[in-house]
Amino acid sequence: MRQRRSKVPDVPLLMTPGPTQVRENVRITRALEMTNPDLDLKFFKFYRKTCFKLAAFMNTESQVLILSGEGMVALDSTCASLAEPGDRVLIIDNGIFGEGFADMVKVYGAEPVVFKGERTRGISVENLREFLENDSDFKFATIVHCDTPSGVLNDIREICPLLKSYGILTVVDAVSSMVGEPIFTDDWKIDVCIGASQKGFSAPPGLAFLSISPDAWEMMEGRKTPIPSYYCNLLLWKNYFEDFWFPYTPPISDIYGFKVALNNVLKEGGALKRHRRIAKAVRKAVIRAGLSLYLKSDYCSTVTTINVPTGLDGEALIQKMKDKHGILIGGNFGYLKRKAVRIGHMGENARLEYVSETLKALQETLEDEGVVLRADMESVFLEEMVKKK
Ligand SMILES: *Cc1c(COP(=O)(O)O)cnc(C)c1O
Repeated sequence: MRQRRSKVPDVPLLMTPGPTQVRENVRITRALEMTNPDLDLKFFKFYRKTCFKLAAFMNTESQVLILSGEGMVALDSTCASLAEPGDRVLIIDNGIFGEGFADMVKVYGAEPVVFKGERTRGISVENLREFLENDSDFKFATIVHCDTPSGVLNDIREICPLLKSYGILTVVDAVSSMVGEPIFTDDWKIDVCIGASQKGFSAPPGLAFLSISPDAWEMMEGRKTPIPSYYCNLLLWKNYFEDFWFPYTPPISDIYGFKVALNNVLKEGGALKRHRRIAKAVRKAVIRAGLSLYLKSDYCSTVTTINVPTGLDGEALIQKMKDKHGILIGGNFGYLKRKAVRIGHMGENARLEYVSETLKALQETLEDEGVVLRADMESVFLEEMVKKK
């Protein structure tokens, strides 16, 4: 049994693809004394500075906002603020989150048109190009950078400029890829790029953030109908600093903590490389052991989705990992429910010791269930990790 890292007895080692492990300096910062964030100019400046820092991290000169709520609030606010009744919206779908955008834009009266890709690999840029040659009359398009249930990584670097060349605005859900995969918001012509606190940044859930390009602001301001939401109306935020007014009371303690989490990533510098190495070594270990990956290609470096061996149940596997080894890995939902499990090696989870411990526990759990594995996953993983890169 591993040594307890947590003083709280029932907290398992978090190895899920969000929420992720939270470092102590983030947890402690959240407990600091606070001011009234609606009235204290110092906090306005702190908030804005944090947004600027985040914008620099996302490689954008666009305005970045930090919203109260988990990732969904940024997705919903974007759909509420951009979509209007009758608008055609292109939904690029090769996973559960990708598909989900269709329901969100429908709520606001828009007509989703789904471009479906294969689920086991990234969206084919060529197929999308052909599709757009026949039909490109869309107000905006939505795409998920890493669709977390499968872990598929979409080539937004090619896809977003292609969409923009047709005058289609681009909305990217980068919630689970950020920190583990590069994002060049401006160079890649992303109009709205969305992230959240509890994935790669390794802060607790509770904050979402997004960048909004000048074109996206213009689209919101040029609407024929008012934005049909109060809480999710992004326009209310546009001049918050000049007006010295937040649309709602910012969750100050969450934002203090998030700033420290962001600094942790910036100070480290090499987060991308760390994620890439770990992800590659995990895939190698899984394959060598004779297990299979759900994806055929286009793996995101933040999560590995493993097919559950025939005859076993994914939910039961996760439960055993938790009960017997004190490690929580990710289950799945939708079409992958019970069929695939996920190791979330994102943010603070993506450390050699946590991942090797997880693979060891998974090995034991599977062998207990009578699965014959061809290699020791922990050993393969460690061998890969010490190889000179
Ligand atoms: C986690 C996640 C979200 C946000 O989900 P919440 O439940 O709101 O935290 C959105 N998109 C993707 C791809 C995600 O992985």
